[in-house]
Amino acid sequence: MGSFRGKIGLVMGVANDRSIAWAISEALYAEEAELAFTFWPSPSAERRVRKLVDAHQPRVLESCDVQNDEDIARVFSAIRETYGRLDFLVHSIAFAPPAELKQPYLEMSREGWHLAMDISAYSLVACCREAAPLMPEGGSVITISYFGGEKVIPGYNVMGVCKATLEHSVRYLAWDLGREKKIRINALSAGPMRTLSSAGVSKFDEMQKHHVSKSPLERNVEPAELGTTAVYLLGDQSEGVTGETVHVDCGFNVVGL
Ligand code: NAP
Repeated sequence: MGSFRGKIGLVMGVANDRSIAWAISEALYAEEAELAFTFWPSPSAERRVRKLVDAHQPRVLESCDVQNDEDIARVFSAIRETYGRLDFLVHSIAFAPPAELKQPYLEMSREGWHLAMDISAYSLVACCREAAPLMPEGGSVITISYFGGEKVIPGYNVMGVCKATLEHSVRYLAWDLGREKKIRINALSAGPMRTLSSAGVSKFDEMQKHHVSKSPLERNVEPAELGTTAVYLLGDQSEGVTGETVHVDCGFNVVGL
Protein backbone atom coordinates (compact mmCIF):
# COMPACT_ATOMS: atom_id res chain seq x y z
CA MET A 1 0.00 0.00 0.00
CA GLY A 2 1.14 3.55 -0.75
CA SER A 3 3.51 2.56 -3.58
CA PHE A 4 2.00 5.30 -5.81
CA ARG A 5 2.14 8.06 -3.18
CA GLY A 6 3.18 11.26 -5.00
CA LYS A 7 2.54 9.80 -8.46
CA ILE A 8 0.08 11.48 -10.84
CA GLY A 9 -1.83 9.58 -13.49
CA LEU A 10 -4.50 10.18 -16.10
CA VAL A 11 -7.24 7.58 -16.56
CA MET A 12 -9.17 7.67 -19.86
CA GLY A 13 -12.19 5.39 -20.32
CA VAL A 14 -14.24 5.23 -17.13
CA ALA A 15 -17.90 4.95 -18.18
CA ASN A 16 -19.33 3.37 -15.02
CA ASP A 17 -18.42 1.15 -12.07
CA ARG A 18 -18.12 -1.89 -14.36
CA SER A 19 -15.50 -0.25 -16.59
CA ILE A 20 -12.07 -1.87 -16.65
CA ALA A 21 -10.66 1.64 -16.20
CA TRP A 22 -12.58 1.92 -12.92
CA ALA A 23 -11.22 -1.42 -11.62
CA ILE A 24 -7.75 -0.09 -12.42
CA SER A 25 -8.51 3.28 -10.77
CA GLU A 26 -9.62 1.55 -7.57
CA ALA A 27 -6.36 -0.41 -7.43
CA LEU A 28 -4.36 2.79 -8.06
CA TYR A 29 -6.29 4.69 -5.39
CA ALA A 30 -5.55 1.85 -2.96
CA GLU A 31 -1.86 2.60 -3.67
CA GLU A 32 -2.51 6.31 -2.98
CA ALA A 33 -2.06 7.55 -6.57
CA GLU A 34 -3.37 11.00 -7.53
CA LEU A 35 -5.69 10.50 -10.51
CA ALA A 36 -7.11 12.74 -13.22
CA PHE A 37 -9.99 11.49 -15.39
CA THR A 38 -11.59 12.07 -18.75
CA PHE A 39 -15.15 11.17 -19.71
CA TRP A 40 -17.04 10.97 -22.99
CA PRO A 41 -18.60 14.43 -23.66
CA SER A 42 -22.21 13.86 -22.66
CA PRO A 43 -24.11 15.05 -19.57
CA SER A 44 -25.03 11.47 -18.59
CA ALA A 45 -21.42 10.21 -18.91
CA GLU A 46 -20.25 13.21 -16.86
CA ARG A 47 -22.86 12.52 -14.15
CA ARG A 48 -21.87 8.83 -13.93
CA VAL A 49 -18.15 9.53 -13.70
CA ARG A 50 -18.53 12.46 -11.26
CA LYS A 51 -20.58 10.24 -8.94
CA LEU A 52 -17.92 7.53 -9.01
CA VAL A 53 -14.90 9.77 -8.40
CA ASP A 54 -16.60 12.25 -6.06
CA ALA A 55 -15.06 10.81 -2.87
CA HIS A 56 -11.56 11.39 -4.30
CA GLN A 57 -12.18 14.96 -5.53
CA PRO A 58 -9.92 14.75 -8.64
CA ARG A 59 -8.39 18.09 -9.57
CA VAL A 60 -8.68 17.34 -13.30
CA LEU A 61 -11.93 15.91 -14.68
CA GLU A 62 -12.29 16.80 -18.35
CA SER A 63 -14.55 15.73 -21.20
CA CYS A 64 -12.69 14.19 -24.14
CA ASP A 65 -13.69 12.69 -27.45
CA VAL A 66 -10.48 11.00 -28.60
CA GLN A 67 -11.46 11.60 -32.23
CA ASN A 68 -10.98 15.28 -31.58
CA ASP A 69 -7.35 16.52 -31.37
CA GLU A 70 -8.42 19.77 -29.68
CA ASP A 71 -10.11 17.77 -26.90
CA ILE A 72 -6.95 15.72 -26.37
CA ALA A 73 -4.76 18.86 -26.31
CA ARG A 74 -7.11 20.54 -23.79
CA VAL A 75 -6.95 17.53 -21.44
CA PHE A 76 -3.16 17.42 -21.40
CA SER A 77 -2.84 21.17 -21.02
CA ALA A 78 -5.16 20.93 -17.98
CA ILE A 79 -2.77 18.31 -16.56
CA ARG A 80 0.20 20.60 -17.26
CA GLU A 81 -1.49 23.62 -15.65
CA THR A 82 -2.64 21.66 -12.60
CA TYR A 83 0.31 19.35 -11.91
CA GLY A 84 3.12 20.36 -14.28
CA ARG A 85 3.84 16.71 -15.05
CA LEU A 86 2.42 13.19 -15.47
CA ASP A 87 3.78 9.85 -14.23
CA PHE A 88 1.42 7.42 -15.96
CA LEU A 89 -1.44 7.12 -18.43
CA VAL A 90 -4.25 4.54 -18.60
CA HIS A 91 -5.86 4.31 -22.05
CA SER A 92 -8.98 2.13 -21.80
CA ILE A 93 -11.03 3.20 -24.82
CA ALA A 94 -12.58 1.37 -27.76
CA PHE A 95 -15.60 1.66 -30.00
CA ALA A 96 -17.07 0.00 -33.10
CA PRO A 97 -20.53 0.65 -34.57
CA PRO A 98 -22.71 -1.98 -32.80
CA ALA A 99 -24.79 -2.81 -35.88
CA GLU A 100 -21.63 -3.51 -37.88
CA LEU A 101 -20.12 -5.66 -35.13
CA LYS A 102 -23.12 -7.95 -35.48
CA GLN A 103 -22.55 -8.48 -39.21
CA PRO A 104 -19.84 -10.74 -40.68
CA TYR A 105 -16.45 -8.95 -40.82
CA LEU A 106 -16.60 -9.33 -44.60
CA GLU A 107 -19.51 -6.83 -44.66
CA MET A 108 -17.67 -4.12 -42.68
CA SER A 109 -18.10 -0.65 -44.23
CA ARG A 110 -15.09 1.58 -44.94
CA GLU A 111 -16.59 4.27 -42.72
CA GLY A 112 -17.21 1.89 -39.80
CA TRP A 113 -13.74 0.38 -40.11
CA HIS A 114 -12.06 3.81 -40.01
CA LEU A 115 -14.19 4.91 -37.06
CA ALA A 116 -13.35 1.78 -35.03
CA MET A 117 -9.62 2.10 -35.84
CA ASP A 118 -9.52 5.81 -35.07
CA ILE A 119 -11.11 5.47 -31.62
CA SER A 120 -9.72 2.09 -30.62
CA ALA A 121 -6.15 2.22 -31.96
CA TYR A 122 -5.05 5.63 -33.31
CA SER A 123 -6.21 7.43 -30.15
CA LEU A 124 -3.40 5.75 -28.19
CA VAL A 125 -0.79 7.32 -30.50
CA ALA A 126 -2.41 10.76 -30.22
CA CYS A 127 -2.59 10.56 -26.41
CA CYS A 128 1.00 9.31 -26.04
CA ARG A 129 2.25 12.21 -28.18
CA GLU A 130 0.63 14.69 -25.77
CA ALA A 131 1.63 12.75 -22.65
CA ALA A 132 5.34 12.35 -23.48
CA PRO A 133 6.39 16.00 -22.91
CA LEU A 134 4.77 15.80 -19.47
CA MET A 135 6.97 12.82 -18.54
CA PRO A 136 10.52 14.29 -18.67
CA GLU A 137 11.77 11.83 -16.03
CA GLY A 138 10.15 8.81 -17.75
CA GLY A 139 6.73 7.30 -17.19
CA SER A 140 4.47 4.37 -17.93
CA VAL A 141 1.47 3.91 -20.23
CA ILE A 142 -0.97 1.01 -20.49
CA THR A 143 -3.75 0.24 -22.93
CA ILE A 144 -6.31 -2.58 -22.77
CA SER A 145 -6.41 -5.32 -25.38
CA TYR A 146 -8.10 -8.67 -25.92
CA PHE A 147 -7.05 -12.08 -27.30
CA GLY A 148 -9.32 -11.46 -30.32
CA GLY A 149 -6.41 -9.37 -31.65
CA GLU A 150 -4.22 -12.49 -31.82
CA LYS A 151 -6.65 -15.20 -32.94
CA VAL A 152 -10.06 -15.18 -34.60
CA ILE A 153 -12.87 -14.98 -32.04
CA PRO A 154 -16.07 -15.19 -34.11
CA GLY A 155 -18.23 -12.13 -33.42
CA TYR A 156 -15.33 -9.94 -32.22
CA ASN A 157 -14.75 -8.96 -35.87
CA VAL A 158 -13.37 -5.48 -36.53
CA MET A 159 -12.54 -5.04 -32.87
CA GLY A 160 -10.08 -7.93 -33.20
CA VAL A 161 -8.42 -6.15 -36.11
CA CYS A 162 -8.26 -2.99 -33.98
CA LYS A 163 -6.66 -4.90 -31.09
CA ALA A 164 -4.03 -6.42 -33.42
CA THR A 165 -3.21 -2.87 -34.53
CA LEU A 166 -3.24 -1.61 -30.95
CA GLU A 167 -0.80 -4.30 -29.76
CA HIS A 168 1.63 -3.71 -32.60
CA SER A 169 1.27 0.02 -32.13
CA VAL A 170 2.37 -0.54 -28.52
CA ARG A 171 5.59 -2.15 -29.82
CA TYR A 172 6.38 0.79 -32.12
CA LEU A 173 5.46 3.28 -29.41
CA ALA A 174 7.72 1.38 -26.99
CA TRP A 175 10.59 2.16 -29.35
CA ASP A 176 9.78 5.85 -29.84
CA LEU A 177 8.91 6.49 -26.20
CA GLY A 178 11.71 4.36 -24.76
CA ARG A 179 14.63 5.89 -26.64
CA GLU A 180 15.79 8.99 -24.75
CA LYS A 181 12.42 9.61 -23.14
CA LYS A 182 12.53 6.40 -21.01
CA ILE A 183 8.76 6.07 -21.09
CA ARG A 184 7.42 2.50 -21.02
CA ILE A 185 4.21 1.30 -22.66
CA ASN A 186 2.46 -2.06 -22.42
CA ALA A 187 -0.85 -3.64 -23.35
CA LEU A 188 -2.87 -5.50 -20.74
CA SER A 189 -4.86 -8.20 -22.53
CA ALA A 190 -7.94 -8.83 -20.39
CA GLY A 191 -10.23 -11.86 -20.35
CA PRO A 192 -13.89 -11.13 -21.17
CA MET A 193 -15.62 -8.88 -18.63
CA ARG A 194 -19.25 -7.79 -18.60
CA THR A 195 -19.11 -4.02 -19.31
CA LEU A 196 -20.98 -1.45 -21.44
CA SER A 197 -18.59 -2.10 -24.36
CA SER A 198 -18.83 -5.88 -24.21
CA ALA A 199 -22.64 -5.61 -24.51
CA GLY A 200 -22.03 -4.77 -28.20
CA VAL A 201 -20.17 -8.04 -28.85
CA SER A 202 -22.44 -10.83 -30.07
CA LYS A 203 -22.25 -14.20 -28.26
CA PHE A 204 -20.47 -12.55 -25.33
CA ASP A 205 -22.11 -14.98 -22.84
CA GLU A 206 -20.74 -17.85 -24.91
CA MET A 207 -17.25 -16.31 -24.77
CA GLN A 208 -17.37 -16.18 -20.98
CA LYS A 209 -18.66 -19.78 -20.70
CA HIS A 210 -15.97 -20.98 -23.08
CA HIS A 211 -13.37 -19.23 -20.93
CA VAL A 212 -14.50 -21.11 -17.84
CA SER A 213 -14.38 -24.46 -19.61
CA LYS A 214 -11.06 -23.91 -21.44
CA SER A 215 -8.84 -21.72 -19.28
CA PRO A 216 -6.31 -23.40 -16.96
CA LEU A 217 -7.81 -21.63 -13.94
CA GLU A 218 -11.37 -22.72 -15.00
CA ARG A 219 -12.92 -19.31 -14.39
CA ASN A 220 -13.28 -15.79 -15.72
CA VAL A 221 -10.97 -13.02 -14.61
CA GLU A 222 -11.98 -10.70 -11.74
CA PRO A 223 -11.87 -6.89 -12.18
CA ALA A 224 -9.53 -6.57 -9.19
CA GLU A 225 -7.02 -8.84 -10.98
CA LEU A 226 -6.84 -6.35 -13.85
CA GLY A 227 -6.25 -3.64 -11.23
CA THR A 228 -3.31 -5.39 -9.58
CA THR A 229 -1.61 -6.12 -12.93
CA ALA A 230 -2.16 -2.51 -14.01
CA VAL A 231 -0.50 -1.35 -10.78
CA TYR A 232 2.45 -3.63 -11.59
CA LEU A 233 2.77 -2.35 -15.19
CA LEU A 234 2.38 1.31 -14.23
CA GLY A 235 4.69 1.15 -11.23
CA ASP A 236 8.38 0.70 -10.48
CA GLN A 237 8.11 -3.10 -10.08
CA SER A 238 8.00 -3.47 -13.90
CA GLU A 239 10.74 -0.96 -14.74
CA GLY A 240 12.41 -3.35 -17.24
CA VAL A 241 9.18 -4.18 -19.10
CA THR A 242 8.03 -2.37 -22.24
CA GLY A 243 6.34 -3.17 -25.55
CA GLU A 244 4.67 -6.26 -24.05
CA THR A 245 1.17 -7.65 -24.19
CA VAL A 246 0.52 -9.05 -20.74
CA HIS A 247 -2.41 -11.48 -20.56
CA VAL A 248 -4.67 -11.37 -17.52
CA ASP A 249 -7.06 -14.06 -18.70
CA CYS A 250 -6.73 -17.02 -16.32
CA GLY A 251 -4.34 -18.55 -18.88
CA PHE A 252 -6.90 -18.88 -21.70
CA ASN A 253 -4.40 -17.74 -24.38
CA VAL A 254 -1.95 -20.60 -23.80
CA VAL A 255 -4.46 -23.38 -24.52
CA GLY A 256 -4.66 -24.80 -28.07
CA LEU A 257 -7.65 -27.11 -27.80
P1 NAP B 1 -16.47 0.57 -21.10
O1 NAP B 1 -16.69 0.67 -19.66
O2 NAP B 1 -17.63 0.77 -22.01
O3 NAP B 1 -15.25 1.53 -21.52
C1 NAP B 1 -15.02 1.98 -22.84
C2 NAP B 1 -14.78 3.45 -22.77
O4 NAP B 1 -14.44 3.99 -24.05
C3 NAP B 1 -16.01 4.21 -22.29
O5 NAP B 1 -15.64 5.08 -21.25
C4 NAP B 1 -16.44 4.98 -23.53
O6 NAP B 1 -17.14 6.16 -23.21
C5 NAP B 1 -15.07 5.25 -24.12
N1 NAP B 1 -15.13 5.78 -25.48
C6 NAP B 1 -15.68 5.23 -26.58
N2 NAP B 1 -15.53 6.06 -27.64
C7 NAP B 1 -14.84 7.14 -27.19
C8 NAP B 1 -14.34 8.33 -27.79
N3 NAP B 1 -14.52 8.62 -29.09
N4 NAP B 1 -13.67 9.22 -27.00
C9 NAP B 1 -13.47 8.98 -25.69
N5 NAP B 1 -13.90 7.88 -25.07
C10 NAP B 1 -14.58 6.97 -25.81
O7 NAP B 1 -15.93 -0.91 -21.49
P2 NAP B 1 -14.59 -1.69 -21.06
O8 NAP B 1 -14.93 -3.12 -21.35
O9 NAP B 1 -14.15 -1.27 -19.73
O10 NAP B 1 -13.57 -1.24 -22.20
C11 NAP B 1 -12.33 -0.63 -21.90
C12 NAP B 1 -11.25 -1.22 -22.78
O11 NAP B 1 -11.06 -2.60 -22.44
C13 NAP B 1 -11.59 -1.21 -24.27
O12 NAP B 1 -10.40 -0.94 -25.01
C14 NAP B 1 -12.03 -2.65 -24.53
O13 NAP B 1 -11.88 -3.04 -25.87
C15 NAP B 1 -11.05 -3.36 -23.63
N6 NAP B 1 -11.36 -4.76 -23.29
C16 NAP B 1 -12.58 -5.10 -22.82
C17 NAP B 1 -12.84 -6.42 -22.49
C18 NAP B 1 -14.19 -6.83 -21.97
O14 NAP B 1 -14.48 -8.04 -22.03
N7 NAP B 1 -14.99 -5.94 -21.45
C19 NAP B 1 -11.84 -7.41 -22.67
C20 NAP B 1 -10.61 -7.02 -23.16
C21 NAP B 1 -10.37 -5.69 -23.49
P3 NAP B 1 -18.79 6.13 -23.12
O15 NAP B 1 -19.24 4.73 -22.88
O16 NAP B 1 -19.12 7.03 -22.00
O17 NAP B 1 -19.21 6.60 -24.47
